[in-house]
Amino acid sequence: MLAFMPLASAPTTPTPPTSSRTAPVAIREVGLRDGLQSIARTLPTATKLQWLRAAYAAGLREMEVGSFVPPRLMPQLADTEALVREALALPGLVVSVLVPNLKGAERALDSGAHAMLLPLSASRAHSLSNLRKAPDDVVREIADIRRLRDAAGSTCRLEVGLSTAFGCTIQGRVEPEEVLRLVHAALDAGAERVGLADTVGYADPRQVRELFERAFEIARPYDRDGAAALACGHFHDTRGLGLANVYAAWEAGVRRFDACTGGIGGCPHAPGASGNVATEDVAYLLASMGVPIGLDFDALMALRHSVAGWLEGEPLHGHIWRAGLPKTMRPAATAEAA
Ligand SMILES: [Zn+2]
Repeated sequence: MLAFMPLASAPTTPTPPTSSRTAPVAIREVGLRDGLQSIARTLPTATKLQWLRAAYAAGLREMEVGSFVPPRLMPQLADTEALVREALALPGLVVSVLVPNLKGAERALDSGAHAMLLPLSASRAHSLSNLRKAPDDVVREIADIRRLRDAAGSTCRLEVGLSTAFGCTIQGRVEPEEVLRLVHAALDAGAERVGLADTVGYADPRQVRELFERAFEIARPYDRDGAAALACGHFHDTRGLGLANVYAAWEAGVRRFDACTGGIGGCPHAPGASGNVATEDVAYLLASMGVPIGLDFDALMALRHSVAGWLEGEPLHGHIWRAGLPKTMRPAATAEAA
């Protein structure tokens, strides 16, 4: 088997932000949620399970498998409970789900998922449109969810994704001070991890680096057991800066990224937003710099091919699938995997 790096070194827990350029980086596959929610057709559960298992076989050890939104709003993700159940059977896989509110969090706790992600829009206009709540109402809900989680005796990790952190299609500019205030408020309210998301593809690398650096200063006191509280970068390639933004965030110390196989996905409430960074491209970017990611490149390519078939007619994105790995990477990778 050809791999970027030996699979034995697959990172399960991302390291805190350090100056180390050799620290492993985790990629969370979010295609089954972020990707599929923006696509009208509904994939059969059996096909999603094929996706899940193929991604796992490629070395991915964290996946967002669905969302606990009302099925009538998002019929594509109505089988999330079943996916969580099957995903929990894969050893070492961190199974996460998106929850829009307290009700969704209850379902996440019942499902036994390892982590739940609550989106918090830094843009007030996006928040009102997407969640029908102002950002500070969502912060109060984070506290409610934390209380619910603790009362249930659950270890389900509570993570908050700061969406529209770099700009918003509805509101336009989002002030960095407001993003940082909400990072602090979310952690204060009981979120164990936060991430910054460029939901609509507005971010540029300089902005990414500066905002993450400032956010790390705020989040560092909340680091626990060697795990960084600011622990995710989520980028879209809407305007071609997706990978540049991943690199900028990595330079700032981010050691965990969301990505979708085939670069699918978008945001139904942010017109014009399309395409998360592609899992295989992020993997290539990091591996090409010698960053351990524990992923099998050929298996990622095979999965991309399968996804293209399952979603025939939908636009897929990304670059590395066209040309494949450069010769300079293949022999070394083969030797390491042997
Ligand atoms: Zn996304």
